[in-house]
Formats: sequence, C-alpha cells, structure tokens
Amino acid sequence: MTSELKLPANFEDYTDAKKNGFLRVMKLKEEGKKVVGTFCSYTPSELVMAADGVCVGLCGSSEDGIAFAEKTLPKNMCPLIKCSYGLAASDACPYFYFSDMILAETTCDGKKKMFELMKKLKPVHVMQLPPGREGTGALDFWEQEIRRAALAIGEQLGKEITEEALHRAIVQKNRERRAMVELYEVGRMEPCPVSGYEISTIMDSLQFMFTSEEKIKLLEEKRNEFLARAAEDGKGRRKPRIMITGCPTIGVRDKIIKQAELLGASVVAFDSCSGPRAQKEAVSESGDPYLALAKKYLNINCAVMSPNPGRLDALDEMIADYRIDGVIEVVLQACHTFAIEAAEVKRFITKEKKLPYLYLETDYSQADSGQIDTRLSAFLEMMQ
Ligand code: SF4
Ligand code: SF4
Repeated sequence: MTSELKLPANFEDYTDAKKNGFLRVMKLKEEGKKVVGTFCSYTPSELVMAADGVCVGLCGSSEDGIAFAEKTLPKNMCPLIKCSYGLAASDACPYFYFSDMILAETTCDGKKKMFELMKKLKPVHVMQLPPGREGTGALDFWEQEIRRAALAIGEQLGKEITEEALHRAIVQKNRERRAMVELYEVGRMEPCPVSGYEISTIMDSLQFMFTSEEKIKLLEEKRNEFLARAAEDGKGRRKPRIMITGCPTIGVRDKIIKQAELLGASVVAFDSCSGPRAQKEAVSESGDPYLALAKKYLNINCAVMSPNPGRLDALDEMIADYRIDGVIEVVLQACHTFAIEAAEVKRFITKEKKLPYLYLETDYSQADSGQIDTRLSAFLEMMQ
C-alpha cells in the first residue's frame, strides 16, 4: 500500500458496510485506477471514461454527516448538499476519500459555493454550466467548458483525452443509457411488475459500480427478471400509478417512495435525477465529440436551468407513456429552484392534465415521517 492509500484514522469506528466501501475503493486504487467524484446529471462522465478513470456519484443520501456539515454550512440548506459535504469533510465517505479529483458544475447556488469549500479538501474542477439555454452563446460556452474540463481531467489523471477515446466512451455510455431507459420503461407495464423502490435502489447502486459493462449486465439481468415476473403475475387489484417529480430522491426513498407503495400506490415513473430525465437523449456518435456532449448535456431539464420549459414537455410525455394517475412532487428543504418551479408544475398537473398532485417538502431526518404518512394516505385514498 502506498502512503497515499491509507485508510482514515477512524476507520475502525465505521459500520461493516462502510468499511467494505473503503476497502473496495482502496482495492480499485491499488489496481492503478483513478477515481473521479461527481455530483450531478450534467457531468459528462464520458470525459472520465475517456481518461480511463472511474466515476463515482457523491450525492449524500442520509442524515450522517449533516451535524458535521452544520459546523460550517448554514442549517437552512438543502440536506443533499449538507450530507455530501459533511461526509466528505469528516472522511466518512469512502468514495470521496479515495477520489483523485472532483468534477463539479455550477448548478444551484448551494452546490457551487460548497465546491469552493471542497477545494480545501481535494482537487476540484468546476465546470461553469450556463444558467439557461437561450441565445446562441450558451452552447458554444458549454462546449468550451467541456473542452476545458477534458484538459483538467487529463492533467489530474495523467492521461491525455484523445478524440478517439472520447468517441469510444460516447458509444459505451450510450449503451449504458439505453439499458437504463429500458429498465425504467418496465414501469410502463400494467400491472407494473416492479416497485418504484426497487427500480430507484438499482439505479442508485450504479453510482458505485466501477465498470460500464458491470452496470449494463446488472440492468439487463434486472429487466429480464422483472419481465419474467410480469409473465407470472396475474391481474391483481389495480393500484394508483404514481409519478415522482422534483429533487433527487436518493435520501428520501424510504420515507416517500417505499411508504407510498406500502400504502397501496404503484410508483411507476420518475421525472427527476433518479429517473430517465438525463438518460433518454443519447450523445450523437458522429461529428465533433465535444459539440455532441455539449448539446446532449445542455438539454437536461433540471430546475437549475432558467427558463426550463422542457420539464413540462417531459412530464406531459411521461404521463401519457406511463398512464399516470397522480403526481407526487418531492422538494428538498431549501431547494429554491425546484420549490419555485413547483407552482408551474402544480398548475400544469392539476389544471391542464387534471390529475391529483401532492407537494412534499422534506429533509433527510425522520421528524416529519408521521406527517408524510398521513398526507400520502389521504392522497392515495382520494384516488381510489
Ligand atoms: S437536480 Fe439538477 S442540479 Fe441537482 S443533481 Fe440533478 S441535474 Fe444536478
Ligand atoms: S436538490 Fe436543489 S438545492 Fe439541493 S443540490 Fe439539487 S438543485 Fe441544489
């Protein structure tokens, strides 16, 4: 083991699951792999693949780390940011701990200011994401930012990114994307043979798998398993088909998705980072690879874009494709972009689509679990 690959001082205090996480990434590093930590769907992970690096997702998903983060960050902040920063700064996230660099973007204000603090812990390259897509400058600017990131990654990982390697990474990542979308689309079946909880757990687990082939294999196996399950299942009682929209749900999956399903819903679709939003559009495999990446990633419909009309179009399409009966919007506490956009989403769902809509604002604590259960029960009862 090189001196660079020491485990954290408090390693023995961690749970077995966390210890295993540290040992897994350390093994990867000992095999000579470079690890790049990421936080967002706007990250062009093809750049990391083209430099032979491994991408790991670092968005925090639990209460752990929040108290530590609040020593530095304001309390009234999105729990995803607080958790991510707290785990990183307290050496409690194996993936951050062993990352060679962080590839970040200026998305919401909280995240971009957190990255300034994170620079004290690790090499962080911040891509300047345009705040909107309008005008001719946004795409050109974003393409230049992707080129700048490629140079920074190449330098940090000690491997120059060539156009050939980037092209290969684009083709491979497109295969991964297709496999993800095909798994999500099992949710279109009626009755749906898989719970939203299972789908979102599988998708989140991909962030900690180290090769693209490994991810594709898991996605295909799971899809076949669910299709076989559909063939066996009879026509049970029809459950209300729910779409989740809004902020990433990685940290509130048990409190909201699992609970909604325990109360009788079938969560079949996700319009969020935990869904096909960022995966549906492939990167063009012909022409300039940097321009192709810029076009694809700038087209993601997240509330950090202003304006963001594509979100309503995507909701409209998913409501039809997945035969949605009701929409639950999840907004993490202090996430201003999604909270503000929720007014327009509510109008669209209730007035234009004439569907029931439930707005849940929450954090990563269990303090509001009872209240959420009550609101979910009332919402689902109304639909039955
Ligand atoms: S919600 Fe938007 S800003 Fe947040 S991780 Fe997803 S794409 Fe990035
Ligand atoms: S959920 Fe909202 S506040 Fe939190 S990181 Fe994402 S965009 Fe930022």
